[in-house]
This record gives sequence, C-alpha cells and structure tokens, in this order.
Amino acid sequence: MFEDLDELYQEVIREHSSHPRNFRALPAPARAVDGHNPLCGDQVRLFVEMDGERVKDVGFTGQGCAISRASASMMTDAIKGKSRAEVREAFGAFHEMVTTGHCDEGKMGKLAVFSGVHKFPVRVKCAMLAWHAALSAIEGGAPEVTTESPGDEGPKP
Ligand code: ZN
Repeated sequence: MFEDLDELYQEVIREHSSHPRNFRALPAPARAVDGHNPLCGDQVRLFVEMDGERVKDVGFTGQGCAISRASASMMTDAIKGKSRAEVREAFGAFHEMVTTGHCDEGKMGKLAVFSGVHKFPVRVKCAMLAWHAALSAIEGGAPEVTTESPGDEGPKP
C-alpha cells in the first residue's frame, strides 16, 4: 500500500498500527475530542489530561487505517509531558512535513517516518487526524473535529 515509503519507515508504521501506544480511554477530568476523517473512514477519540500548561497523560481509542492508527500512536508518545506551546509547535512541524515532505529529522525524531506521506495527498488527512483532535483538546476547542473542516490540510494548489 505504501510502496514508495522507505522500508524502515513502513515497518515502524506497521508496528505502531498493530500495537498502538497509549491505546486506552482516560477517565474524567481528561478532555475527550472525537476526530473523524470522512474520506478514509478513520475515527479517533482522543483523551488529554492537562496538568496546568503540560500534557499529563494522553490516550486514544477508535478505528482507522494503518496510517491514522500509527500516527495517533506516535503522536500520543510525542506530546506526553509537553507544554501547550510545544504541542502547537510540534503540530506545525508535523503538518509541514506531511504536506511538503520537508523534514528536520533532528527535530522530528521518530515522527520522521511520516515524511513520505506527502506523496500520497489523500493520506495526509489520515496522518493529521489525531493531531487535529489533540490540538483541539489542549486548546479547549471543539469536542469534535473533522479533516474536512475549514483550514484543513489538503495539498496546496
Ligand atoms: Zn485513513
């Protein structure tokens, strides 16, 4: 399905998709945000518990394609312990990477496995879904997000 992706990257994505990290619901007072990608059918419910400005704990449930599951899994690992500002910054860097392919590997770390996704525009939404939900959760935004909402990350004309 992702023949053009680097083999090592494919392997990491498969592994996270089969054994997602932080795949669990969190009890209140964690905030839950539902994310939906109608193009692919991916659904994620993302839970974030904040401790002041920091992400204390994060988890997710739901179902979707390999890219959406692996992305949610690695995103939750990436943002745990981060401040709101750091999560916003990571969101921006990840978004840039999956839409343009530009990747600062030193900064992206393991998330670099998604750098090849820009070659598959329809998959960008799969990769971004959990990030949209996470951003809404930490910023106290809408309890439901969709990849088809305004400001979504379709390929640039
Ligand atoms: Zn998908």
